[in-house]
Amino acid sequence: MPENAMPGPSVAENAILLHACCGPCSITCILRLRDMGFAPTLYSHNPNIHPLMEYLRRRDGLLAVAQRLDVPVILPDQDDPTQAAPDSWLAAMSPLGPAVADMARRCPVCYDLRLAHTAQAARALGFPRFSSTLLYSKYQNHEAIIAAGERHAGPGLDFVPEDFRPGWDEGIRLSKEWEIYRQPYCGCLLSEHDRYRKKVRLRA
Ligand code: SF4
Repeated sequence: MPENAMPGPSVAENAILLHACCGPCSITCILRLRDMGFAPTLYSHNPNIHPLMEYLRRRDGLLAVAQRLDVPVILPDQDDPTQAAPDSWLAAMSPLGPAVADMARRCPVCYDLRLAHTAQAARALGFPRFSSTLLYSKYQNHEAIIAAGERHAGPGLDFVPEDFRPGWDEGIRLSKEWEIYRQPYCGCLLSEHDRYRKKVRLRA
């Protein structure tokens, strides 16, 4: 549990710790949760985002959204953003061996790593529930995200499996209007490779 993660001694009954991957994906998740009567706090734990300068760009975008929507944000790496090294992600992927190239194999492991950390923080801080902005993306495996969330929920801690995808277009519109950094690939170096491989091949 990060030492600097301290939302206060009493957490509201409607509080929810929202694992947030980036600014653009957070926008409509925050708005939707508020519509549902929840009071979200953002929690950023994303050792899957590489390289470091890309991680920092997304982190800055997340902070800009938090400021604009007046949402509390907890950054486990608040004092030193370079703590967000990819070590834990690489360690989690290592048992996969060559199968790491397969999204269907690596992404569920990636979700589990981030939601396990978020659930641990939610318990330590007294949040009664948690969710993830990963459920906003049309490109992620929702069944695997929900399975990971439910695996790490338990007595006193619910996972909210809200489907945020209906806010997809609005999230894109607002992130452009607010000039929030929009990433061109999912996060890990493998996704960056997948993203550009076809273009590079066409150029060759
Ligand atoms: S493609 Fe995205 S979700 Fe899948 S392992 Fe890479 S960063 Fe994680």
